Amino acid sequence: SSTAVGAGRFAPSPSGDLHLGNLRTALLAWLFARSTGRRFLMRVEDLDRVRPGAREQQLADLRELGLDWDGDVVVQSDRRQHYQDAVARLESAGLTYECFCTRREILKAPSAPHAPHGAYPGICRNLTSEERGARRAGGRPPALRLRADVGSFAIDDLLHGSYSGMVDDLVLRRGDGTPAYNLAVVVDDAAQGVDQVVRGDDLLSSAPRQAYLAGLLGLTAPQYAHVPLALDQEGRRLAKRAGAVTLGDQKALGRTPRQVLGMLAASLRLTAPDEEADLAGLLDRFEPSRLPREPWVITLPTTPS
Ligand code: GLU
Repeated sequence: SSTAVGAGRFAPSPSGDLHLGNLRTALLAWLFARSTGRRFLMRVEDLDRVRPGAREQQLADLRELGLDWDGDVVVQSDRRQHYQDAVARLESAGLTYECFCTRREILKAPSAPHAPHGAYPGICRNLTSEERGARRAGGRPPALRLRADVGSFAIDDLLHGSYSGMVDDLVLRRGDGTPAYNLAVVVDDAAQGVDQVVRGDDLLSSAPRQAYLAGLLGLTAPQYAHVPLALDQEGRRLAKRAGAVTLGDQKALGRTPRQVLGMLAASLRLTAPDEEADLAGLLDRFEPSRLPREPWVITLPTTPS
């Protein structure tokens, strides 16, 4: 048919194995997309923090759980030209400036009047060309920042409702030339036809920046659903030290992928605890309004040694 079909996606950073919290977010993204007739796309966000072999393992784990995706895996490091083009458009619209600040200088600077707490204090926003020349001669290649003309922006989130968050003069391109995550994610979601972003709620506070940036680039911001994270027994964000947190660990403990899927599904209250799960059944039962809104606190056996 000629009806445009939207898409959801999962966009892991290949910095290590996916843990149960990441796998649960992937399952949710898949359920949201598939239950609404969307395509489901996979994107590897490898502009930084890459561990060799991690990407292959992440994709293998997702496949083993039965999470399938449409089309080829999109890899950010193949798409540098697209980020450059987007930056060039913002540059020619006068919406960027060079920033020579070190992290230290930013932390030491008094915050700008009316600027929200934690916002870039604007040190390099209005440098004269002389000042800029002097800083350039200092040798450090500058980062490129967005010249934002708002301090906050509101988005709609399927789980959080209307959410307003800070927008500052965010970095578009780092001094070493690496495109910033916020830029790449906006460019890629639009290029891939992603109209539904389901991801961990650690990124909720980044969504207003991204939606604002999308608007400046003439792109439509997606629908958002920021889902609760997984925590360990101490209430910390799930990490390796929590014990048997990866699919590989769980298999080493004798669990099948279907049992692991069952564990994830039970945490979403889609199945009873200790039931195996199959994706078709989960898809039938999936109802976003009944999702747990609180973090998933996992009690885990330790990794077998
Ligand atoms: N690559 C990011 C991460 O793994 C997720 C980005 C996103 O979903 O927008 O944390």
